[in-house]
Parts: sequence; structure tokens; C-alpha cells
Amino acid sequence: MARRTKVYEGKAKILYEGPEPGTLVQYFKDDATAFNAKKKEIIEGKGVLNNRLSEFFMVGLNNIGIPTHFLKRLNMREQLISSCEIIPLEVIVRNFAAGTLCERLGLDEGRQLSRPLVEYCYKDDSLGDPLVSEEHIAAFGWASHQEMDEILSLALRVNDFMSGIFYGVGIRLVDFKIEIGRIFESDFQRLVIADEISPDSCRLWDINSGEKLDKDVFRRDLGNLTDAYSEVAMRLGVIQPANSKVAEPRLVK
Ligand code: C5P
Repeated sequence: MARRTKVYEGKAKILYEGPEPGTLVQYFKDDATAFNAKKKEIIEGKGVLNNRLSEFFMVGLNNIGIPTHFLKRLNMREQLISSCEIIPLEVIVRNFAAGTLCERLGLDEGRQLSRPLVEYCYKDDSLGDPLVSEEHIAAFGWASHQEMDEILSLALRVNDFMSGIFYGVGIRLVDFKIEIGRIFESDFQRLVIADEISPDSCRLWDINSGEKLDKDVFRRDLGNLTDAYSEVAMRLGVIQPANSKVAEPRLVK
């Protein structure tokens, strides 16, 4: 069997050349990393869950007209995606104060923000993905003004979509990160949501108990990460509970 060509290996995923030009295969690893890979572990099953959850969100976004790089899921750990040029920004949307926002501004975790806050970090692990302003983005040419308008609009639309989906299953979308890619089609270029959308890249809290159901479970040693991600996947109907049986048909009088 011919060996596939690896295009890129990141902390949680590998990209291989796809079957057709303009496509890639995105493989989800079980590796969990935090604090810029200072904390590392293999969490069995995480890649399978993130592949399914990312598929769920990307398909939903595609269906409501928000373009993504997702084409189809291939198997338990792989999906076919459109190849795109990743804009070197992490686009973070926050609905409640948490994480580095609290550290930076001395806020109490959990405070609801008066409006969604969109932040940009320059994607560079060696620098720890520093927070940058739109002025930096323009000055260094990472994205044009027109692209930034579109990125802001995409980020807020994704936030509305995901907040609603999570609210429906009793989960608060505290914040999340997305990445944006450029796809070139003859003379045209369009922006798409790329990378992944999963509990690795979101903060998710149970609305009633406040229980954390995202990568903070790993970052802060709060319990079993796959249990938390499985809970999210089960609530969304992406996986079935292990002991769930299809009920026997019964006659109803
Ligand atoms: O750490 P911070 O509070 O800035 O993270 C905000 C959100 O962005 C969190 O949901 C976090 O999981 C996500 N994030 C990410 N990848 C990074 C940085 C942040 O997915 N490199």
C-alpha cells in the first residue's frame, strides 16, 4: 500500500495529502496538550470524539450558509477537508470572562460580558500566540481590512450558532477559538472556518452545575477528559450512551 504524504503535524492533528488536488485528510490524534505543550498526555479516545464533534459543528455551519473547510468524515479519526491557506490568527470569541481574559484584566471567572468580545492572537507557538490588535494585523499584512470585517462577522455568526446549539443541551458556551482559511477558486478567494471546533477549542460549562466539560478538565486536573467530551457528544446526540438500548416496540392503548 502506498504511504501517504504528511503535509503537516500539529499538537492534536496531522494533515495528509488528500485524494484529489485541493483536498487534505485531517487526522485527529489522542494527544492533549496545554500551556503551549508544557503539559502533555495521551487521552485515549479524544481524537475520535473531536473528529465527530468537529464534524457535527462544521456540517451545521455549512448548512446555515457559513462556509467551512469540511467536506466529509472518512472514518473514526479522519475527515476530508478543502485545502486552504490558514490566516495566522487565532480568533477568540468570549461570552463570559474566563482564562487569559481574567488573568489579563483581573476579572472574576464567570462574569457575563455585556457583548461578545472578539480577540485576535498571532499564531506562533514560539511566542506563545500573543494577543494582537487589528492595527498589528494590518501593519504586518496578516489579513486585509476587508478580510477582518468578514472575519468579525463570521466569528459572531459562529458564536450565535454555537451558543444556541449548546444552550439547547444545557451547556453555556463561555468562549471558543476558531481559525480562518483562504480558499482560492480561479481568480476568486473566499474565507472559510478551518481547523476544528471541539471541546479542545471551547470553554463549555454545564448551565446548572457549572461543571466544566472542556479542555480545562485536563489543564486543571479536574477529572477524566474523555468523560467530559463524551458527555458533550451525548447531549448533542453525536454519540449514544454506552448502555443505551433501542426500546422494544410496545403497543400503546
Ligand atoms: O486561554 P484563553 O482564555 O485565551 O482561551 C480562550 C479560548 O480559546 C478557550 O476556549 C481556549 O480553549 C481556546 N484556545 C484554543 N487554542 C489556543 C488558545 C486558546 O483553542 N491556542
